[in-house]
This record gives sequence, C-alpha cells and structure tokens, in this order.
Amino acid sequence: MSYRIEGRDGEWEVVVGMEVHAQVVSNAKLFSGASTAFGAPPNSQVSIVDAAFPGMLPVINRECVAQAVRTGLGLNAEINLVSRFDRKNYFYADLPPGYQISQYQHPLVGSGALAIELADGTSKDIGITRLHLEQDAGKSLHDQHAEKSLIDLNRAGVALMEIVSEPDIRSPEEAGAYLRKLRTILRYLGTCDGNMEEGSLRADVNVSVRRPGEPLRTRCEVKNVNSVRFVMQAVEAEARRQIAVWEEGGAVEQETRLFDPARFETRSMRSKEEAHDYRYFPDPDLVPLTLDPAWIEELRAALPELPDAKKARFMAEYGLSAYDASQLVAEAPTAAYFETLARGRRPKTVANFMLGDISAALNRLGHSFASTPLFTTKATGALLDMIEDGTINGRIAKQVIEEMEVSGEGAEAIVERLGLRQVTDTAAIEAAVAEVLARESAKVAEFRAGKEKLFGFFVGQVMKAMGGKGNPALVNDMLKRKLS
Ligand code: MN
Repeated sequence: MSYRIEGRDGEWEVVVGMEVHAQVVSNAKLFSGASTAFGAPPNSQVSIVDAAFPGMLPVINRECVAQAVRTGLGLNAEINLVSRFDRKNYFYADLPPGYQISQYQHPLVGSGALAIELADGTSKDIGITRLHLEQDAGKSLHDQHAEKSLIDLNRAGVALMEIVSEPDIRSPEEAGAYLRKLRTILRYLGTCDGNMEEGSLRADVNVSVRRPGEPLRTRCEVKNVNSVRFVMQAVEAEARRQIAVWEEGGAVEQETRLFDPARFETRSMRSKEEAHDYRYFPDPDLVPLTLDPAWIEELRAALPELPDAKKARFMAEYGLSAYDASQLVAEAPTAAYFETLARGRRPKTVANFMLGDISAALNRLGHSFASTPLFTTKATGALLDMIEDGTINGRIAKQVIEEMEVSGEGAEAIVERLGLRQVTDTAAIEAAVAEVLARESAKVAEFRAGKEKLFGFFVGQVMKAMGGKGNPALVNDMLKRKLS
C-alpha cells in the first residue's frame, strides 16, 4: 500500500530525498593533523589550517579518503578514480577562510543503492546519487556571554561525508527506515559512529508533494534534523504544510526550513541558495585526488560482512525469520552476541530470548548487548542451558531474568537460592493434579461434557499449585490421563 495524504479534494503523494552529513571516524581532521576527539575544551584542537592563517596549506588525510571509499563500497556505489576539491564560498563567523573545501562536480563516490526494510516485510531500494568529502565548520555559541557570540573552532575542518539520495522515498516510514539503515551500515563499516545526539549524523530532508502520477513540484529543504523520529515527523509536517499552500491556490517557494518538534511544524529559515551563489571553483591548494584501483580492491577485501549479507546468512544458516534476522543484525555487537550463544544451542530459542525477555531487561537497565556487565553471553548461556536440560521451564526463566536484574546474581545461584528447579517428580505432579481436579469438580464435569477449552484452565491451576515449577509437558500428560 502506498502512502497518501488525503487533501481537501483528493490524494497527494509525498516525494523525499535526503542529504546526510556523516562525521568521518578519524583521529585527525580532513586537511590538518588536529585531533577530532569530542568534548575537548573550546579551541584546544585547532591548527593553523583550521583557523585559516595566511599562508597555510591543506594536506589531505589518507585515512579520511579510505573511510569515504569504504562507505562508497558499502553502499554498492561507483568509486571515482579521479575526484576534485572545490571551494564553496560563503561568509559565516565560524568559517575562518570564508569558504568550505568540498567536492562539487567531481565527487569521490558516484551512484549506488541502499535497501530499506518496511514494517509489512517488504524491502525497497533507495538510490544513492553521490557521496563527497568536505570540511565541517566551527560552532558559534550565543548563550555564553550577554553581548557577544563566542566561536569554538574544534569542529572546524573535521571530515564529513555528505551522502545524497535520489528522491525515491515516498513516506515518513521510508524516510525513517532509510536513515536507520544508513546508520547501521556506517556503524558496521566503522566509518561514522552514527551518534545523532552528538551531531555525528545530521539529516537534511528535501520534501515535495504532488498528485499521484504528476511530475515533481517545488521542494523545500528541512535542515539539520537530528533523530530518526524527528525526520519522520518533519516529512509529515512539511508535506501537510505544502498541501495546504497548493490547495489554497498558492505556490510552494523553494527555501530552507527548520523543524520544530514541540509545535510539529516547519518554519522558514532562509530562501534557498542556488549552486552559482557559492561561486564554486577548484581549490588551487589541492591537486585532483587520484586513486589506485589496487588500493580500492584492498579496502574492498577488508570490508566486514555487511547487514544485508548477515541477515541472509542468519536466515539460511540458523533458520530464522526475516523479521528476527533483521532485528538481530541491526547492530553488529548484537549479531555477534547471537552467534556466540547459538553455537550448540537452538537458534530460535536464543533469538526469542534475546529479542524478548533479555532485551526488555536491558532496556530497563539502560544496557545494550554490546556492553552489559550482567547479561554477558556466559550468563545468558547458563540460563538457556538450564532451560534446555530441563532444570527450569520457560516461565520460570522469565522470573530468573527479572531476579538477575535486581540481585545481579547468575541464573544458577538464583535457581538454587529460590528453589526454582522444575518439578519432574511424577508423584508430586500427580498429587497436584488430583488436588485441583477434586477442588474444581464442577469444571471437570463441564469438560467431560465437551467443553474442551477448559483444559488450559486446569493446566494453569496445576502450575499455580506447583508455584510455576511443574514440568509443562509432564503436567499436560498427567492431566490428559486423569481427565479422560
Ligand atoms: Mn554539505
């Protein structure tokens, strides 16, 4: 089902393209040796290049280029053997040279594609137009002094990858799925940490609307949206605003806008610049960037297994559903956790526990599979083994997980301390069954008269009488025998 917004007189289609700025994981900046560590004191990581002292000369950082190439390969995109750096000229207080070194006509990476997964189980390819390298600007601080604005240049010159998509996105859901998938790939590759709160990943969302089947209409760019949820909301809010403009007989003006999540609306920031406003020209300080195909192949050979390939392998090798597999591969450490546990155990049981009760516990604790000191693979493995060998049943396992969360003890210690071992003693089970059937004689009569769905009620009562510790299979067998 395609997504449509109902207007006053008919349906509208939403068309979205995204430009994502991803900060490159690198110890040094794109054209200087200054550090890129987050959270350092203001202006403590600034070289003469970043501050644009007269006579400074930029020198390209090979590792930043390698990271951009890895990202291009991860997006199944063409890598251009020759690319060029241009100056994009504009004035801003936190941009000391008066220009940003970027790539315009000759980007490092050309067209590629990224597959997004949707809630209905389908997937869709979103085209990647290009990826280029550029410098970040510094940061203006307007809230530190009563009359003055302060400038922090630590971020100036940090390498960014600008990743531009084709206008293939057709709904808020697809926009969110695109950003999530892009973040997953970047994190697998280790080329961007994907931390949206720290600004390592920022999305500019281009939105337009049209009647289904019509050519494209004017778009607006919603700038610097910093979470997946806000991207989805910004698409919807901006589309609804444009529909109202068109339906009132007006025309949408091309401009840059900002999204205000508190008011669920976008507002105008400035009219959109055209490329010629920036007076792009080749940076005379930098020669064109030429890459050796052998080096690209070296980088390709060293790429990790990426999420789509891992998902397909999890389905084939472990017999998981597409849904479970995509949940498990969303973060590389989660996938590794699964594979450690699945060795020698039933993969479906491992997946169910990880995505169910263990995930719930981690959420409550604020832990993740990557870093939890409590639910290590060893601790979770011990718990799963106790279910597998019949020491406890699945219901008790839930209780053990909750107790682990509170006391920090291991599963075995909790089972011993609280006496949670499953009861497999047939005499004890028989006694519990007899007690329940004697007490519920009226229901027994109804059952024997044909009300068979009461069976579940008897199972529940027997388990309750046994403190949840009865072996479910044995309880079922005994009840069937006694009720027949
Ligand atoms: Mn940019």
